[in-house]
Amino acid sequence: MDYLPIFADVRNKLCLVVGGGGVAKRKAGMLLGAGARVRVVAPQIEAALAEQHNVETVTARFSEEHLDGVTLVIAATNDRSVNRQVSELARARNIPVNVVDDPELCSFIMPAILDRSPLMVAFSSGGASPVLTRMMRGKLETMIPQNYSRLATFAERFRELVKRRISNPVKRRIFWENALEGVIAEKVLVGDESSAEKMMQQMLASEDNIQHGEVYLVGAGPGDPDLLTFRALRLLQKADVVVYDNLVSKPILEMVRRDAERIYAGKKRDDHTMPQEEINELLVRLAKQGKRVLRLKGGDPFIFGRGGEEIETLAEHGIPFQVVPGITAASGVAAYAGIPLTHRDHAQSCIFVTGHLKDGSMDLDWDALARPRQTIVVYMGLPGLATLCSELVAHGLPGSTPAAIVQQGTTQNQRVITGTLVTLPGIAQAEKLQAPTLIIVGGVVTLRSKLAWFDPGKSAGLPG
Ligand code: SAH
Repeated sequence: MDYLPIFADVRNKLCLVVGGGGVAKRKAGMLLGAGARVRVVAPQIEAALAEQHNVETVTARFSEEHLDGVTLVIAATNDRSVNRQVSELARARNIPVNVVDDPELCSFIMPAILDRSPLMVAFSSGGASPVLTRMMRGKLETMIPQNYSRLATFAERFRELVKRRISNPVKRRIFWENALEGVIAEKVLVGDESSAEKMMQQMLASEDNIQHGEVYLVGAGPGDPDLLTFRALRLLQKADVVVYDNLVSKPILEMVRRDAERIYAGKKRDDHTMPQEEINELLVRLAKQGKRVLRLKGGDPFIFGRGGEEIETLAEHGIPFQVVPGITAASGVAAYAGIPLTHRDHAQSCIFVTGHLKDGSMDLDWDALARPRQTIVVYMGLPGLATLCSELVAHGLPGSTPAAIVQQGTTQNQRVITGTLVTLPGIAQAEKLQAPTLIIVGGVVTLRSKLAWFDPGKSAGLPG
């Protein structure tokens, strides 16, 4: 270890910043944020800095008397000789000094920080590579949710009470681990502190001080793992058991916590999907065992995902749950295929429908679909493609209306096939398409010839 990491208490202490530029301003801001009083010394000082509360400005070149009464010094001028002078004089008086970007002149260095006050993460490469430190900070930024600040404050509020109620330190630690990992923490993280508080009181009042399971209904997006939300990723790494669909891509499943149990709710060996009621009951059963259950679904759970039915059953059993939206196939696939779903010149509205065939026909409001200047996105539509196209034409859309099929959009197997309402069914039949596929109908499809940017090399057909 090259440095001793410490957090300094500068509340109401006088700190000196030498310099009047942007860097000095940032450092002064940081000191003020930690509750310090700040003296800024420079020949020229921005008015905005001088006007701040708790700032004393000295419009002059630095000289020794500016160190009087000072607890800590930061030199941020662009003149190395001034910085050196500040450093030497401060050290002579045993005042800790930092010179920005000049470790040699420092008696302490400032870490990069991730501020979730009262929770604070500080890190440093000891000057070896500030860029690496910044990159690391970026990574941590995505791993530690903004709301951890709230969580820490919440925990602080209960600290004394918990200490009084649970005197055994081991039991108390387990209690806190339970509270800060489970439903209570999740409630705080989504901003529902009143529910969290109630649960906390209940847990403190109960015999075993243990809270029970919960369910996260999470949208996994259309396939590319980069399209997961931060929250989805965090919960994937926290869940005890993951119940997933066949739409969820392999790279996303690899992000599940290693020792978590995985249950496949897609096609079983006999090729039948697990009935919905069975899935609903499975979620209830697992949660009642006290587990953190993550129900992972392709795209968004509330768009053709039957997510509503699953949480209805949970609600009936009083099991806490949360719903994490995902990027739905329509928006993910359209973006990666270079087909904007709306566009000033082509479409002012966009409609999502399911093209599921029932007894050979589709139960859709064709008049509402066959409107000019509207994009239609059809989920689960490939088996009924011919019906879809002919009905749209029969209800008034020109046969020349551009249409596209996107196979396994956003993944390395993405393929885009384009044609018109007349030609597309024939083209699709000639291509061996693999599920899942999404159909997009409307003038916006022609834009692909200009806007396509993602092409794993498997596209076929001509733009519109
Ligand atoms: N809840 C999901 C949709 C489930 S229905 C969502 O919001 O996206 C399943 C249908 O979604 C598939 O039949 C297909 O039409 C579409 N789909 C899902 N992922 C897709 C992908 N990567 N590429 C193309 N279509 C996709």
